[in-house]
Amino acid sequence: MSDANDAAFARARAALPGGVNSPVRAYGSVGGTPRFLVSARGPYVTDVGGREYVDLVASWGPALLGHAHPEVVAAVQAAAAHGLSFGASTPAETELAELVSARLGDASGIEKLRLVSTGTEATMTAIRLARGATGRDLVVKFAGHYHGHSDGLLAEAGSGVATQGLPGSAGVPAPIAAQTLVLPYNDLDAVRAAFAAHPGRIAAVITEAAGANAGVLAPEPGFNRSLRELARAEGALLILDEVLTGFRVGPAGWWGLEGADEGWAPDLFTFGKVVGGGMPLAALGGSAVLMDHLAPLGPVYQAGTLSGNPLAVAAGLATLRLADADAYARIDAASALVGGWVSEALTAEGVAHVIPRASSLFSIAFREGAVREYADAKAQEAWRYPPFFHALLDAGVSAPPSVFEAWFLTAAHDDAALDRIRAALPTAARAAAAA
Ligand code: PMP
Repeated sequence: MSDANDAAFARARAALPGGVNSPVRAYGSVGGTPRFLVSARGPYVTDVGGREYVDLVASWGPALLGHAHPEVVAAVQAAAAHGLSFGASTPAETELAELVSARLGDASGIEKLRLVSTGTEATMTAIRLARGATGRDLVVKFAGHYHGHSDGLLAEAGSGVATQGLPGSAGVPAPIAAQTLVLPYNDLDAVRAAFAAHPGRIAAVITEAAGANAGVLAPEPGFNRSLRELARAEGALLILDEVLTGFRVGPAGWWGLEGADEGWAPDLFTFGKVVGGGMPLAALGGSAVLMDHLAPLGPVYQAGTLSGNPLAVAAGLATLRLADADAYARIDAASALVGGWVSEALTAEGVAHVIPRASSLFSIAFREGAVREYADAKAQEAWRYPPFFHALLDAGVSAPPSVFEAWFLTAAHDDAALDRIRAALPTAARAAAAA
């Protein structure tokens, strides 16, 4: 079948490596022609051939309210009318920082934020800050967690690194990779052993608040709290990466569902995606004492020409203000329905599967038994996903183009959109069974 997407992809491949600007978009693990999108509204996206799909990617998370929410678009248009970028501070940046702090509340320990443009920058800066503040070099991360594409954080990373089956990345010097200790997720003994093996040398433990980049890998109850305790006892910082979960799984992110009740907080939070409402914006935050290590007050350097961009800040402010309890209730309900339907359809066809879940985030793993860590996520009949994915796509439903990615619902997924997903699932499950 040759259509407008094939033509767009052929042209793109001549101009862009792989025809894309971010690897998973290339459909590498599911095959076929990626859909080239020209517009998006509510729960729908429209491709270059004019075909509409119910979207379950939500720009990989940011579109919490659905695509192009009219009030968010209006806020961005109003900001644009006043200028696109000043390279100087704006009152709105302070407002956004205050709003994020207020959303999480005093117990989060967030007193100050720095706004950056991508999640990659947020985690990269958090690591540099942790190293600068502790005077130590080593960093602990967990296998299958993705924290963006900075050199030290690609080892056994999730997301596109997992999709492509890579151990890390070429171009990362071995001495830099050696500063990252990669441990199995949900394994506190491994964390204790790492601290014992490297006394006084670990600057930080970085963890996804809930793993969602190797499919969903939820933290076991008490895991994050124990990381908090272990890190503190060893003089290391805990960085809770909420780039994906922040303001998505609830008004105060994953921490709001767990840490707030359990009475713990990380030293640093990283945010991205929803906090920018679909525009390039991310942040890191923590106590004033820690954050003041950043330039211009302290010796840890970080900067950005477009940091705190006025359009992005406007989108973030509008999105967070609209993300009320009702929005989260709708997302939770839609996610419970869709996850349930996926499971029913696969069960009806006798396809072994589990639906790993972390609040409103879920994914499919074609295996039996719990998915606790990356090795479990990899040990599945992943080949069943491409035909499943393509059957959905043929029926006008756009699921994530990799089994290692979470499914994203939005507050705009209404009955019509949900019905279309439900109707497409039996055929997709049959395709998975036949694979
Ligand atoms: N951390 C997490 C947990 C993420 O999911 C991602 C992106 N999926 C990042 C960091 C990197 O964010 P960005 O793609 O904006 O650089």
